[in-house]
Amino acid sequence: MTEEKNFFDEIEGLDTTCRRLSGLSALVTGCAQGIGRRIALELAKEGADIVINDLSSQKEKANKVAQYIESHLDREAWMVEADVSDIEDVKRAKTQVEENFGKIDILVNNAGINRDNFFTKMEKKDWDQVLSVNLDSVFNCTHTFLDHIQDSAQGRVISLSSVVGERGNIGQVNYASSKAGIIGFTKALAQELVRDDVTVNAVAPGFIATKMVLDMPEKVKDKIKKQIPMARFGKPKEVARTVTFLASKDASYITGEVIRMNGGFYL
Ligand code: NAP
Repeated sequence: MTEEKNFFDEIEGLDTTCRRLSGLSALVTGCAQGIGRRIALELAKEGADIVINDLSSQKEKANKVAQYIESHLDREAWMVEADVSDIEDVKRAKTQVEENFGKIDILVNNAGINRDNFFTKMEKKDWDQVLSVNLDSVFNCTHTFLDHIQDSAQGRVISLSSVVGERGNIGQVNYASSKAGIIGFTKALAQELVRDDVTVNAVAPGFIATKMVLDMPEKVKDKIKKQIPMARFGKPKEVARTVTFLASKDASYITGEVIRMNGGFYL
């Protein structure tokens, strides 16, 4: 858990002079912890104001991220609680965002869960929950906030897929299906939104050192690391910086792309 524990120490003192996202606003779903939290901080470091979303159970952690952005990165941060798997909740959140914050330019569909089991033992409720949080949420948030993004001079939709969506994985039929769905969503929507100058991309991380991975039994983690040519898990900041690049003008000619980042685990 070293990565988690040292998180705020590590970001202390980061260069905030390179502000590629000045004047823009971003909504990051599920960003009270893990990869999403780092994405929120990296986007703010680059000059974006941030709408922080997570479940109400994560309010305390989410508030800490917001406080950090306001006090250390000199950006506005505003927390909106919402269950992104529920479109009515997302619509309610949008009204609150408009009343308290304004419009967003960049949407990062990050919220995700896993409920792993062998397919023969997988219950329908675990299939439904994973598909709903990981894939329905991408429809819900993108569809609901699309008018904001289309109005922006630098509209971006960036979603978190996974190596598992391309390669599959034992015990993750539900998770793999949801992450493969994000790839199809990205490639199709990118073509529709070209006319609005909105880019739609995904990142497909391998195994990243967050709670989702660090909570696995040591034996399983060791086995996984042996299969990764770089022999280590990825860091949330490595994913976050790729997302930041996709959000920036530097990536203006990239759309419908899925960027793999997995230490050589799957090429
Ligand atoms: P994480 O640490 O579990 O963080 C995910 C966050 O999303 C949590 O704060 C979670 O709250 C929140 N969340 C869950 N359901 C939500 C909902 N319905 N509405 C709003 N927020 C919700 O996960 P992570 O490892 O940072 O992963 C972030 C994303 O990257 C996920 O989409 C994941 O699938 C993807 N990814 C991760 C890895 C990896 O190795 N870690 C690799 C590839 C892709 P709770 O904790 O209360 O559920």
